[in-house]
Amino acid sequence: MRNYVSFKIIQIILFFAKHIAYSCRIISTGFAICFFLPFGETDAAEKIRGQALQGDLMVFKTDAGTQLSLDGTPLLTTPTGYFAFGFHRDDSMAVSLDILSPDGRRQQIVLTPKSRLYNIQRIDNLPSTMVTPPQEVLDRIRRDARDVKAARAIFSEQEDALVNNFDWPIWGRISGTYGSQRILNGQPRQPHYGIDIAAAPGLAVRAPADGKIVMAKDLYFTGGTIIIDHGYHLNSTYSHLAKMITPVGTDVKRGDIIGTVGSTGRSTGPHLDWRINWKNKRLDPLLLAGPLLPALPIPRPF
Ligand SMILES: [Zn+2]
Repeated sequence: MRNYVSFKIIQIILFFAKHIAYSCRIISTGFAICFFLPFGETDAAEKIRGQALQGDLMVFKTDAGTQLSLDGTPLLTTPTGYFAFGFHRDDSMAVSLDILSPDGRRQQIVLTPKSRLYNIQRIDNLPSTMVTPPQEVLDRIRRDARDVKAARAIFSEQEDALVNNFDWPIWGRISGTYGSQRILNGQPRQPHYGIDIAAAPGLAVRAPADGKIVMAKDLYFTGGTIIIDHGYHLNSTYSHLAKMITPVGTDVKRGDIIGTVGSTGRSTGPHLDWRINWKNKRLDPLLLAGPLLPALPIPRPF
């Protein structure tokens, strides 16, 4: 009889443990969030990929008709229920994801982005050369920045990148990492918000996901520059291209050739600078497209 009672107690404990465990979600490394929901209820949004981590994109899936907001700003879902948001290089504040299900259930998920260490290079005792570009160059730099901002502000409702993630636009050695920064004579320069992929000039650069070309232009700093809008505030940028193959307005499919590797603009050698934005958050393409085998000169099997 005593054994039976113990057995029953263990069974009950296991039942609760199982259900409580079920309501816990590991949101990022070392950070779990638990929902103390009545039994039978499940989470209103399922995490598909990504972590609360600087430079990462979190992708979730929910039911049609669910209303979402991130820190009070509405978030749109794709027709199949996907939604996403990203964290900037230096984001450290918690964000609040509020979910209102069609049946009136509310759920709040609080996410604090985990910090990363970036490659910071300090170079002191540099001769201070005061080089001020001529006015026409300054004007061009300002116009370029305005055009890039306008291209990245374009919103569309394509969902391929959200649903199927990003592929690599080219294979090559990573010669520059996301977030790295140089401090010259104590003056911090703008961090590197993309990754540099060293590749031979003339190699094909491919669209990493479906989208529309919203910029294809020669810019002062970044040379031949293409921006692809992937929908739902996600866009990707390709710089220093030798050739831009797809003009503005072209709809591209994942894997389509958009240009070729070059060294145009202010560049020290042939490479592809690849950036991904969600709204004004700069994301780390390495986190999104997954690890690339290091230094392999093999062509990508398309
Ligand atoms: Zn770069």
